[in-house]
Amino acid sequence: MRINAKTVAQLAELGNEVRPGVSLADHTSLGIGGRTDQVLLRRPETIPQVMRLLAEEGNPHKFLGGGTNVLVDDGELGFIVLHLPASGSAMRVEGNAAYVDAAADLGGTVTFCAKHDLGGLEGLVGVPGSVGGALRMNAGAYGTQIGPHVREVQLYRAASGQIETLCGSDIRFDYRHTSFGPEDVMLRVKLELPSRPYQEILAAIKVSNQKRRSSQPLDQKSAGCVFKNPPGGSAGRLIDQLGLKGHRLGDAMVSDRHANFFVNLGQASCADMLGLIDSVRERVRTAYGIELENEVIVWRN
Ligand SMILES: Cc1cc2nc3c(=O)[nH]c(=O)nc-3n(C[C@H](O)[C@H](O)[C@H](O)COP(=O)(O)OP(=O)(O)OC[C@H]3O[C@@H](n4cnc5c(N)ncnc54)[C@H](O)[C@@H]3O)c2cc1C
Repeated sequence: MRINAKTVAQLAELGNEVRPGVSLADHTSLGIGGRTDQVLLRRPETIPQVMRLLAEEGNPHKFLGGGTNVLVDDGELGFIVLHLPASGSAMRVEGNAAYVDAAADLGGTVTFCAKHDLGGLEGLVGVPGSVGGALRMNAGAYGTQIGPHVREVQLYRAASGQIETLCGSDIRFDYRHTSFGPEDVMLRVKLELPSRPYQEILAAIKVSNQKRRSSQPLDQKSAGCVFKNPPGGSAGRLIDQLGLKGHRLGDAMVSDRHANFFVNLGQASCADMLGLIDSVRERVRTAYGIELENEVIVWRN
């Protein structure tokens, strides 16, 4: 989707930048996705005006963080993407509180906090993407989730059209699901983290990294787990038990290392990946009567 020249100029006047015809295949960890205009929110405080302009012009939009949990449609996209550039994102620590911009890299945040003797996030160290994406998804791994550490979130709230601050206790963080509105944009977070000696945190980080390296196809293009785990079970185990590792549609394949990671072997399209997801879901439904729910977020035209 193209933003008209007048709106591009207005967005630039607000201090933001429009990149025309960006390929989302280059901005997502799956390496899949068509083209659209991208608005780089270089002045996040202008989001209320940006959203009003886009609404007036009838430009549907989606918010892209690190692009590590999205599967994007092929071809010319029917929506634009907004993005907070990571460069210049700020982090600071005060006592047990860490104040971090949503654009910041999650792994970088974990190590920054560790250097200030703040732990609690060690399990998240290998989760790629931004802090904003982690908040939206309530990212979690190896018994750690970001949600319990959130004390405040500054965000653009679509319901009011304003930037507001929410208390952590007013936000619900469930398994890969949060109570943020679908069009809310997280800008900054205050985390409260337990004090822990740096060397101890480092040792825990190493353990998380080793677990990941030994079980996940980190050298291939993926979006992490495709399906949420069903209550009390493991989606990966169910898929593995059906012998589906290596099962392929075009260049989309069920990883032979981790059955809940679907990888792009090179030229997979969104249609290939969706076809593979549907066929695996169907096989699991037929075999076990369990309906697997997507963890990966699909952006269709
Ligand atoms: C190799 C690999 C391993 C992974 N392992 C894990 C794991 O162990 N645990 C886990 O939980 N996830 C895992 N993931 C998935 C993914 O990394 C997480 O979900 C991550 O938190 C997504 O962050 P992102 O910035 O890339 O979000 P994106 O993929 O860009 O977006 C995901 C969703 O968040 C929204 N979003 C992003 N930023 C903002 C913002 N600032 N404001 C509002 N909405 C926003 C998007 O609109 C979209 O709806 C893995 C992915 C990969 C590729």
